[in-house]
Amino acid sequence: MDRIPFNRPHATGREFDHIRKAIDNGHLSGGGRFAQRCEAWLETRTGTRRALLTPSCSSALEFAALLAGIGPGDEVVMPSFTFVTTASAVVLRGGVPVFVDVRPDTLNLDESLLEDAVTPRTKAVFAVHYAGVGCEMHAVRETAASCGAMVVEDAAQGVMASFRGHALGSIGDLGCISFHETKNVICGEGGALLVNDEQLIERAEILHEKGTNRTKFMRGEVDRYTWVDLGSSFMPSEVAAAFLWAQLESADEITAQRLAIWRAYHDRFEALEEREAIRRPIVPDQCSHNAHMYYLLLPDRQRRDRVIARLADAGIEAVFHYVPLHSSPAGRRYGRAATPMDVTDSASDRLVRLPLWIGLTDTDIDRICRGVENAIA
Ligand SMILES: *Cc1c(COP(=O)(O)O)cnc(C)c1O
Repeated sequence: MDRIPFNRPHATGREFDHIRKAIDNGHLSGGGRFAQRCEAWLETRTGTRRALLTPSCSSALEFAALLAGIGPGDEVVMPSFTFVTTASAVVLRGGVPVFVDVRPDTLNLDESLLEDAVTPRTKAVFAVHYAGVGCEMHAVRETAASCGAMVVEDAAQGVMASFRGHALGSIGDLGCISFHETKNVICGEGGALLVNDEQLIERAEILHEKGTNRTKFMRGEVDRYTWVDLGSSFMPSEVAAAFLWAQLESADEITAQRLAIWRAYHDRFEALEEREAIRRPIVPDQCSHNAHMYYLLLPDRQRRDRVIARLADAGIEAVFHYVPLHSSPAGRRYGRAATPMDVTDSASDRLVRLPLWIGLTDTDIDRICRGVENAIA
């Protein structure tokens, strides 16, 4: 029987045409026509003030940390249950990740713990929208505002998802998105920074252009351009942007197809949940998700590991998620835990992610579900 991989990157079929056009246009570095189209699309679809493409979400997070003015000793509150670069973006500026536990339902940062985690050194809160399901952004923003901290959304998994009608990534001061091949809308490696706070736009454009005022120069606002601030190579190539444009054009279709697969899993596993053999993902009413991920929570680590092993035996690749950062070697060296981490540790032990990619057939889904059912029986 064919192996079912955990992920298979989806192409719409128009990527080659767009890349050829980019070559014909004679502009392959950052800031070309496709990059501008992608940024305009993101601005329209998310409602952000300014979208800037980046080479990855990790670089968007580093870009955000620079813009947020995070410096040595500054603290940034974030969940421990997240990807490495949420934290490393802060550490690269000399900042200290302060880890908090997540909510048992969404596995997002537990907003009720924020107040206890902030200190006079808190410079920002990095809110991660796990599985494309939004954090309680109103509460996050309120607590951050009460101590003068910025809110940066790690919306790496959040393209096409929203919280109370607002696109993920467009709610905090800054938002970071990923177009990595494992995400919903992709270009291999890619990302974007959403600049929602108008006051940060001018500086963001300078940092994006390697710390120069080239953007102003291109608009004819200054007669030459020069080095004026910090910055880095924060623009992806036009080849990546051309690929991405093909995907953004199909973003609604991609999301609908993923949601159909997500729904098929969700319906099928209802019976197992009723028997309390598993827990399915919980999506609060105020969240519209994007089917980034389908995961199950098993009662304990042993049973989770058995599901992964049995699926592997059946040629199906299912994976766990997030070794918590607070107990990782670098997390202990560079950060600290501000709260007990019971939910984080438990989720990390009990969670299994199932294959979810466009092209997965009903037969595949049935085979995967039977694999899970057999492992549990
Ligand atoms: C994927 C991911 C990232 C990193 O995105 P890249 O584009 O691969 O750099 C960061 N944070 C979260 C929560 C992610 O899921």
